[in-house]
Amino acid sequence: MRLGKYSFGIGDRFNHQGKAQLKALMMARDAGLEIIPVWNKSNREHQIVKSTPDLTRQEADEATMVMNWDLPYFVDADHINLFNVDKFIEHCDFFTIDVAEYISKPAVDEDVEEYIENNRKYTGKLHVTGIDDDFTITEDFLAEIGFKFLNAAQEAGKIYRYINKRRSGKDFITEISMDEVDNPQTPAELLFILGMLANEKIPLQTIAPKFTGRFNKGIDYSGDPAQFRQEFEQDLLVIDHAVNSLGLPDNLKLSIHSGSDKFTIYPIIGDLIAQYDKGIHLKTAGTTWLEEIIGLAEADEEGFNLVKEIYRDAYSRKDELCKPYSAVIRIEESSLPSPDTVHHWDSNKFINTLRHVPDHPDYNPNLRQLIHVGYKVAAEMDERYVKALKKYAEVIGKNVTENIYERHLQRLFKF
Ligand SMILES: [Zn+2]
Repeated sequence: MRLGKYSFGIGDRFNHQGKAQLKALMMARDAGLEIIPVWNKSNREHQIVKSTPDLTRQEADEATMVMNWDLPYFVDADHINLFNVDKFIEHCDFFTIDVAEYISKPAVDEDVEEYIENNRKYTGKLHVTGIDDDFTITEDFLAEIGFKFLNAAQEAGKIYRYINKRRSGKDFITEISMDEVDNPQTPAELLFILGMLANEKIPLQTIAPKFTGRFNKGIDYSGDPAQFRQEFEQDLLVIDHAVNSLGLPDNLKLSIHSGSDKFTIYPIIGDLIAQYDKGIHLKTAGTTWLEEIIGLAEADEEGFNLVKEIYRDAYSRKDELCKPYSAVIRIEESSLPSPDTVHHWDSNKFINTLRHVPDHPDYNPNLRQLIHVGYKVAAEMDERYVKALKKYAEVIGKNVTENIYERHLQRLFKF
């Protein structure tokens, strides 16, 4: 089972936008670009919405059937670990093994010592084709990287083997993620992490490192684009090196988490993957929930009132809602309009504040992030919210498709 060169993580909180999302990929296909859809939903999302992986599978199967999608598609058990993977096993064929929380929790001493011993041959200058400055690998570097990442790699191996056993022969795609941490992994670190994962015999096809800069949910990249460019380019070359020297799958590619809305770096990513003829996986699920809110606000007064209610509740529960996303959210509280202020806005003012058009004078990334984590409020409305999704499916769907196609795909792939 192989993931295509270009793939896009779609999926949505309430399993209603599968067709609208797929439509954007079909439009890209009509324009000559083949992008494989992956419906991803994290364990965190399932817990907050109180949904189950079988519903994501159902959404993906139904959307692809109704839309006559005849290329592969996948359902991703996103950000799973040994303790929560069971319920995903039979419904998913893509597993994102998240080992972020095992980073910097050291492996046993003997394993680290053995790791240093086995990798001592790399000390000195290490040349990676395409990278001008050789990496300098010292014994201290090996000790440090063994300390930081060996335990995480061992855990990834454990989870991979567990999934493999439980799937009893049914193939699946493996991704390893370590993006939800504070410190980025350098290209040199990535190379040695890949070495550890190869040593665990994990046939990973995608890897999601933590890149430099902040990848806050639903808003643009915040960081130094030039530094990102250099790091991303080196990561691509490191992956080439790892594929050639470590026997990892030859379609191994980078996966960008919290990848929606990172408009500043899309042209950089687009340029570099074109230059080096590389694939990419980009996860965007959260942005679609924001389009549901925009669609509801655009629909009519009833829809807009529902949106105002969600904002009011989210505003009063900000800390609680942000907590599960602490590594990928940064809201300036003083820049949030009060619910009473929003109550008097017309729908255009609200839409322009929320919709991701960065140079619009009304656009407010703080409100956007708060709504991003506010889907718990909609989940608690239960049938009331779902009814609205059905009633206003058309106007919501239009926003969902347009957002993925125009603001994401066209910017990233430059067509
Ligand atoms: Zn992630």
